[in-house]
Amino acid sequence: MVINAGTYAPVPEDIIVRAPKVLLHDHLDGGLRPSTIIELAEDSGYDDLPSTDADELARWFSEAAYSGSLERYLETFKHTVGVTQTPEALRRVARECAEDLGADGVIYAEVRFAPELHLQRGMTARDVIEEVLAGVAEGCEQSADDGHTLRVGLLLTAMRTATHSREIAELAVEYRDAGVVGFDIAGAEAGFPPTRHLDAFEYLQRENAHFTIHAGEAFGLPSIWEAIQWCGADRLGHGVRIVDDIEFDTEGVPHLGRLASYVRDRRIPLEMCPSSNVQTGAAETIARHPIGLLKDLGFRVTVNTDNRLMSGTSMSREMALLSDAFGYGLDDFQWFTVNAMKSAFIPFDERLRTINEVIKPGYAELRAEIADRLDRAKD
Ligand SMILES: [Zn+2]
Repeated sequence: MVINAGTYAPVPEDIIVRAPKVLLHDHLDGGLRPSTIIELAEDSGYDDLPSTDADELARWFSEAAYSGSLERYLETFKHTVGVTQTPEALRRVARECAEDLGADGVIYAEVRFAPELHLQRGMTARDVIEEVLAGVAEGCEQSADDGHTLRVGLLLTAMRTATHSREIAELAVEYRDAGVVGFDIAGAEAGFPPTRHLDAFEYLQRENAHFTIHAGEAFGLPSIWEAIQWCGADRLGHGVRIVDDIEFDTEGVPHLGRLASYVRDRRIPLEMCPSSNVQTGAAETIARHPIGLLKDLGFRVTVNTDNRLMSGTSMSREMALLSDAFGYGLDDFQWFTVNAMKSAFIPFDERLRTINEVIKPGYAELRAEIADRLDRAKD
């Protein structure tokens, strides 16, 4: 019997969780466990939380993020940042982040955070970086003990509405041999074009360092164009609006504009975050998310979580949602995963080794297992 297990859909949940996954776009302050937020708030005397019940708090975060109100969405970060102002708190959330990703079958992750958001109680930016590095190392060790091999690289984020980007870029270079693999800018897109931070990007280029830029989420093509052609971004955070440069003729055939062609030709990775994009209105629904079209057209598309807490999500959940919406199977998950690994900010030989020794054999094993299950179900 011939079974095309690669496109078998829906892929069983346990298989999705065990499938090796690579995550490039995940915010540390967007991924706290609700129970941890409550404990950290108690420890530090933070009394602004909307609830001290973990389930209720989780619901509150999700509702605020889906409310369509930017104020409510931003308020969620006020709390996660508010409870991570001490070395112990930061180290703990970094450790739990790695543990949660490992348990979800993520084998490589780039986790980003903005040092400047954690300085309210006397930590320096270097303290922040060192606590996160230490926490992530502990979390990876714990994951390994639990049977999950996970590697985490950190990205330092500068807020695009502030003026510290050069300083943060210098820290990214200073810590590049200690576990920091790149740089990012994030925050409100409209009115804050990436070219405001040219100094930081030119510095990074001169230092042969890697960076990604949040662009083309809330704001359209000019933001993507600036990020690539002025700033020299290696990758695009979201980049969803690149579809605005693709037109369909009367026969329904897509035609790429010059910017979309450039992005595809140069294999510029798009860090797409389906659930988050729906929450912010960058996509109407998962089923109407441009990821389907961009994948069909062969763009270098990757799947990411963005803010696991606010979106109530995980890599496995994002994959499952895409599977439901587009009928994706293991072949597609593997394609996304290989795309992401190719686009990671770690050295080429390590990426290649991970693809050939972990990702490909991992998926082959799961395909065989699904085929086996189907065979047994037939008997
Ligand atoms: Zn993001």
